[in-house]
Amino acid sequence: MEKLDTVVIGAGVIGMAVAAKFSESTQTLLIEQGEQFGEHSSSRNSEVIHAGLYYATNSLKAQLCIQGKELLYRHCEKFHVPHKRIGKVLTAKTTSEVNTLHTIAAQAKINGVDDLQFLSKTHIGRYAPHINATHGLWSPSTGIIDSHQFMLSLLTKLTQNHGQYVPRTQFLAARKTCNGYIVDLDCDGDLFQIQCQYLINAGGLFAQKNASLIDGLEKKYIPKLHYCRGQYFSYHGKHPFSHLVYPVPEKHGLGIHATLNLAGQLRFGPDTHFIHDLNYQIDANDKNKFVQAIKQYWPAIDDTKLFADYAGIRPKITQTGAQDFIIQSSNTHSYTGLINLFGIESPGLTSSLAIAEQVLKDIG
Ligand SMILES: Cc1cc2nc3c(=O)[nH]c(=O)nc-3n(C[C@H](O)[C@H](O)[C@H](O)COP(=O)(O)OP(=O)(O)OC[C@H]3O[C@@H](n4cnc5c(N)ncnc54)[C@H](O)[C@@H]3O)c2cc1C
Repeated sequence: MEKLDTVVIGAGVIGMAVAAKFSESTQTLLIEQGEQFGEHSSSRNSEVIHAGLYYATNSLKAQLCIQGKELLYRHCEKFHVPHKRIGKVLTAKTTSEVNTLHTIAAQAKINGVDDLQFLSKTHIGRYAPHINATHGLWSPSTGIIDSHQFMLSLLTKLTQNHGQYVPRTQFLAARKTCNGYIVDLDCDGDLFQIQCQYLINAGGLFAQKNASLIDGLEKKYIPKLHYCRGQYFSYHGKHPFSHLVYPVPEKHGLGIHATLNLAGQLRFGPDTHFIHDLNYQIDANDKNKFVQAIKQYWPAIDDTKLFADYAGIRPKITQTGAQDFIIQSSNTHSYTGLINLFGIESPGLTSSLAIAEQVLKDIG
């Protein structure tokens, strides 16, 4: 049986960041059940580098988003990953929305984000012409990134450190031994066993299922999973946006906001909708809902230029409110060398490099 130090399950941005980090000091194997890396959440998101404004004091999201943002900007420079510190404007019109902007600014300050600026109606016009808002909050450290190129750079780092990446390889089961794990894999139809010391479950929307395949791991350590779909509609035509524009956040997401990709293409989303099955299908009937939400801040939208684009699915662990990332180590489940990553929704892309550092610390 082949032996190595670390097996990482799942080549999304989190598993890839973890594998790249672990490959600096351990012999690392990254497996992916799909044909290619990043086919799930890591290629179905807004590609925004978040500043870290909204997250609860001392939460992992607040801590790892802010650390991750700095690490990510440095990584992008070093590995020539296309990105842009484009900035975002949060907009408000009603008294209650203006109060929310103040709450967000105060929370951002507690989190360590000290570069926000309040904008008057005139100033908003400079950052976001044709936007219907009376108050704004400008976040200059928010950016956009080419997530595919970012994942490629992580793969390069892994292979430069002599780590291995194997697609079409599914994690089937693991058993604890006295000094690690015996892991069963299905490699394109062939069954293999591997012995490792560290096992990292970065399975995203499949993390709960993977955890249930670890022999003896009690069910109480596996949080319930709820799929929360977020759809995007893209805008094909001239537009006035040169920064990201957000409404005030909603209960389960950040509201249907305007983002740009690095080619300047405008897209709107994601909305939030709890679904039962893992299904990325877009509901074209939701176009009207999108148009109404966008008109709140961009009344001049030409809705004939808005087209259904793609959807992503958030791995929610609760349907009732805010949730934090779960990086579950032996401190919780007492399985030395095992880390389960649950509920890694937004800002997971931004936080990925910091999550990888945290996993390395927590492994002991
Ligand atoms: C709609 C939406 C918008 C978002 N916008 C942003 C944003 O703008 N900025 C930001 O910072 N974050 C954003 N995020 C969050 C970010 O996209 C995720 O946190 C991140 O992509 C999660 O990566 P992951 O590696 O955990 O999961 P995934 O990308 O889903 O990867 C998990 C991988 O594990 C593989 N896998 C699972 N089980 C097995 C197994 N048994 N064997 C082998 N392989 C397995 C899967 O096939 C998959 O490829 C958004 C998320 C969504 C859904």
